[in-house]
Amino acid sequence: MVVVGGGIAGLSAAYALSQPDGPPVACTLVEADSRLGGKILTEQTDGFVIEGGPDSFLSQKPWGIELCRKLGLEDRLIGTSQKHRKTFVYSKGRLHELPEGLALGFPTRLGPFLRSGLLSWPGKLRLGAEIFVPRRREESDESMGGFFRRRLGREALERIIEPLMTGIYAGDAEQLSIRATFPRFPDMEREHGSLVRSMLGARMRRPASGTGECARWTPFVTLQGGLSELVQALTGRLSAVKVRLGRRVTAVRSCGAAQGYEVLVEGEAPLKADAVVLATPAFGAAGLLEPLDATVAGMLGAIPYASTATVTLGFRRAGFSHDLDGYGFVIPRIEGRALLASTWSSSKWGHRAPDGSVLIRAYLGGAGREAVLERSDQELVELARADLRHIMGVTEEPVMARVFRWPRAMPQYLVGHLDRLAAIEERLARLPGVFVAGAAYRGVGIPDCIRDGLGSAERVRAYFDKGSSRSL
Ligand SMILES: Cc1cc2nc3c(=O)[nH]c(=O)nc-3n(C[C@H](O)[C@H](O)[C@H](O)COP(=O)(O)OP(=O)(O)OC[C@H]3O[C@@H](n4cnc5c(N)ncnc54)[C@H](O)[C@@H]3O)c2cc1C
Repeated sequence: MVVVGGGIAGLSAAYALSQPDGPPVACTLVEADSRLGGKILTEQTDGFVIEGGPDSFLSQKPWGIELCRKLGLEDRLIGTSQKHRKTFVYSKGRLHELPEGLALGFPTRLGPFLRSGLLSWPGKLRLGAEIFVPRRREESDESMGGFFRRRLGREALERIIEPLMTGIYAGDAEQLSIRATFPRFPDMEREHGSLVRSMLGARMRRPASGTGECARWTPFVTLQGGLSELVQALTGRLSAVKVRLGRRVTAVRSCGAAQGYEVLVEGEAPLKADAVVLATPAFGAAGLLEPLDATVAGMLGAIPYASTATVTLGFRRAGFSHDLDGYGFVIPRIEGRALLASTWSSSKWGHRAPDGSVLIRAYLGGAGREAVLERSDQELVELARADLRHIMGVTEEPVMARVFRWPRAMPQYLVGHLDRLAAIEERLARLPGVFVAGAAYRGVGIPDCIRDGLGSAERVRAYFDKGSSRSL
């Protein structure tokens, strides 16, 4: 069988298929790039650990930590620094500390919120009045913006929820599906009639100190040497897999009824496959499946993507004009700045900058703001520096600057995404042995992509168990 795409989803699929816990599956992984990892890309330069793409993953979703444990990486996991636990929102000309008790953007304690300067008094009253907002009767999907505006008011949406939540998807709150992105919140509304009531109830039910994984790890974790350690560890376990690097798959063709597929690889003889996992972005899978089924290709190709860039800057600590006492800040879209957010990487994590230096990362682009990626690297560095100067007063010259561009990198789960996904799965069932996996479908975060990759391996095994022959 063939896995196309060596990002975290494809690597997880190939890893699971090569494990001895099930019958062995002969597997080839084909990756277009000259390296594995996809969006996961760590560079080490002069003692700085620079994440080009993701810099951490959620510990609450267990698949990331579980995989690290299986790969013997548990000792390499690190949590966020407990010394600098603040996060800020840039609003009306200054950084405001986010009130304590924010669970994924939503206040679990109202007191700190009411004391914070982030919302006006009418905005705070509207947020507190959430408890009286009637439950929505329709079951249909809704935009993230529509949902939170209805429940918490416009100000809370624009000033807090939007920058925190849409940052994860680099998306537009008015278009992203609440059910596909944060299903927990509509579930809370359905079950308790109010988010505030549900949160307060959960606080009362929670034991004084947490137990299990959530108590052990901070909400976000990473690896000491950067997330590429995960890619290296996975790669090290693929000895039973034929890995073809720097080879682009151009199409998947049928070999006739029950004869499997032919995977066309640029510059190589086609690969015969009785099953294929397409762990590429959805638009990539669309192109590959076009010869097999133009309808499913059209459905996959309709999942839109946003483009982003990260700019990482290293500075000398001596005389640095900001105390960097926090994890960084987010910027609401309504502020109209170039940056989406900034992480103060060397404060948030240990092992990120050499002694005497600090590391800051800035995010640019996102849905509707992608024109910025047409600028040169130098211009992106200048844009980031201009906002850091304006917001934090940082005027120092960086000793290191690195730009990473991510065109069409973030799949957008628009309103109705789950219905579209169900339709894709139904249609794909007409192509026995063909599976899709990755960020475009059931979660964009690293743990979700790992789960999806592992899940696709299970589906391949189940398909083989049903009687298909097993060959390369
Ligand atoms: C800037 C940025 C920051 C992020 N931050 C975080 C974060 O902090 N935490 C988090 O959990 N998530 C984060 N994410 C999201 C997360 O990194 C991605 O969703 C995830 O890594 C995607 O994995 P994947 O395997 O689905 O796809 P990819 O990583 O895109 O892998 C797909 C692979 O398929 C290959 N490919 C494509 N077409 C072909 C072809 N025709 N033939 C062969 N190979 C092909 C590509 O080269 C690529 O290697 C971030 C993403 C970005 C861009």
